[in-house]
Amino acid sequence: MKMSKLFVQTLREFPSDAEVISHKMLVRAGFIRKLTSGVYNYLPLMWRVLKKIENIVREEMDFAGAQELLMPFVQPKELWEESGRWGAYGGELMRLKDRHGREMCLGPTHEEIITAIARDGLKSYKQLPVNLYQIQSKFRDERRPRFGLLRGREFIMKDAYSFDTTQEGLEKEYQNMWKAYSKIFKRCGLDTKAVQSDSGAIGGSVSHEFMVITETDAGENDVFYCDCDYAANSNHAVSKLPEAKIIGDYTKAEIVDTPSTHSIEELCEFLNIPSTLIVKTLVYIVDKKPVLALIRGDKQIEETKLLNAVGGVDIRIAVAGEIEELLNVEKGFIGPKEGLTIVADETVKDMKNFVIGINQIDKHGVGYNWGAEVQLPEIVTDIRLVEAGELCTQCGKPLKVTRGIEVGNIFQLGTKYSKPMNAVYLDQNGKAQPYVMGCYGIGISRTAAAAVEAHYDEKGIKWPLSIAPYHAIVIPVSTKDEQQMKVAEDIYKTLIKHGVEAVIDDRDERPGVKFKDADLIGFPYRITVGKSISEGLVEFKVRETDEMSAIKPEDAAEIVITAVNNLK
Ligand code: ATP
Ligand code: MG
Repeated sequence: MKMSKLFVQTLREFPSDAEVISHKMLVRAGFIRKLTSGVYNYLPLMWRVLKKIENIVREEMDFAGAQELLMPFVQPKELWEESGRWGAYGGELMRLKDRHGREMCLGPTHEEIITAIARDGLKSYKQLPVNLYQIQSKFRDERRPRFGLLRGREFIMKDAYSFDTTQEGLEKEYQNMWKAYSKIFKRCGLDTKAVQSDSGAIGGSVSHEFMVITETDAGENDVFYCDCDYAANSNHAVSKLPEAKIIGDYTKAEIVDTPSTHSIEELCEFLNIPSTLIVKTLVYIVDKKPVLALIRGDKQIEETKLLNAVGGVDIRIAVAGEIEELLNVEKGFIGPKEGLTIVADETVKDMKNFVIGINQIDKHGVGYNWGAEVQLPEIVTDIRLVEAGELCTQCGKPLKVTRGIEVGNIFQLGTKYSKPMNAVYLDQNGKAQPYVMGCYGIGISRTAAAAVEAHYDEKGIKWPLSIAPYHAIVIPVSTKDEQQMKVAEDIYKTLIKHGVEAVIDDRDERPGVKFKDADLIGFPYRITVGKSISEGLVEFKVRETDEMSAIKPEDAAEIVITAVNNLK
């Protein structure tokens, strides 16, 4: 490819609306252009990267025994009603009507469709197990599309679905996919950590996410991990709490004045007690209905855990006006109220002689106990956000925290879809049984962006060779210099002949401009033909390390050809 013909427009500056590195770099280097919120054009360079990731995924999925198919992007409401998700899936589901008024949605995921395919075609135990996958665009009307390709509304995903006759079979396939995922991400030049996670809207019980660890804002997930093998997303992480004072010194229960104590800190100071003696009440709105959450004063609520505790879809914290309308009280004095759904975190269960809001402004109950002045709610479960330094439940050591970008995940679905959709096969005794299913996703476009987050410097992207849009660029410093041009063209032709994807920068531009573009776009190898060609040398640069050396043209070509051949 000639640089003069390559469809790419690099920008002088980073786009002003981009917050994270991958978004900034991919726009500036001419890989993507925004069409509308969360929807991007993948320009030729980007498409090459995406196809490479897709092909790695394809090779490893095929090697693992899965079979590729392609399902439609538009899905009918009826199947979603069978699974019960038409009503249950939140605002992310993009619903539409056709000209006959039939309701449809844009596929955010394909459990319903694949289950219907299986139920038509997999009728006997003899046909199982099967793992089917596709690579396709998905649409989710994300509440906050941001960070470019990391959280788009339209994005490319590989989604695979397995069908087994037993839980053991499913677990075996789960391990098989785990292995395939480890290979896929390694081949894409990414270090990943598999962490336990919440199963969210897709459902099921056991699931793991593959995280690219990054300390930057691009990592939207907090990952808690330990020196032992424990690692979990914050929405699923558990811990043991260190000892704390949870039995108050109050000798009798009474209502005391606590003027203007709007926060836990203010209340602690006013009463001169540690926050571990306070039962804190927070108001959430889950699927438009209020839910009160109780937790020890020094701890925070984990919203996904709370959502799961009440079996909801959508959760947010209540705002000031709502709290007043509901409880006739303001923040700081909220307490449990009969008639509302209340969930207590396990931390409050063993507290005694505690302090608690009683829905009266400027007052609190002190010396209260469960079963006496106030009832312990029916739902008592873990809704607590783990904090670094709390203790690992596996080995007792303090947990550490880091941030991660979820590039893939694997779920054990069990019969969550096959049962309601009556998707069955006949077992050895001729009895109808629901499939035991698993599902396995990889964000193809998110993986590309994560690779940029993991490989860049201030000058631009450093693509891993395996997913780079082109492997190498050959730069003649002066296109007017015949000898330089001839050597550059020879190298270029040799590279192409040996299967290297190369670009020759034939533009009549200053060398500085050419070098800048090469660094920004992130070609893994750069071969520059300049004045030193009179001594038989070219400049060879490895983008990952920025190492440069003066070597013979044929040696430079040889290094690149060998590296590319080693990819296979
Ligand atoms: P997240 O928690 O980040 O929203 P998810 O749990 O909703 O992800 P899945 O439904 O399991 O994701 O989808 C499988 C994969 O698709 C994810 O691991 C991720 O790599 C990718 N993915 C999900 N949502 C998006 C998005 N909005 N933009 C880009 N990739 C996405
Ligand atoms: Mg999501």
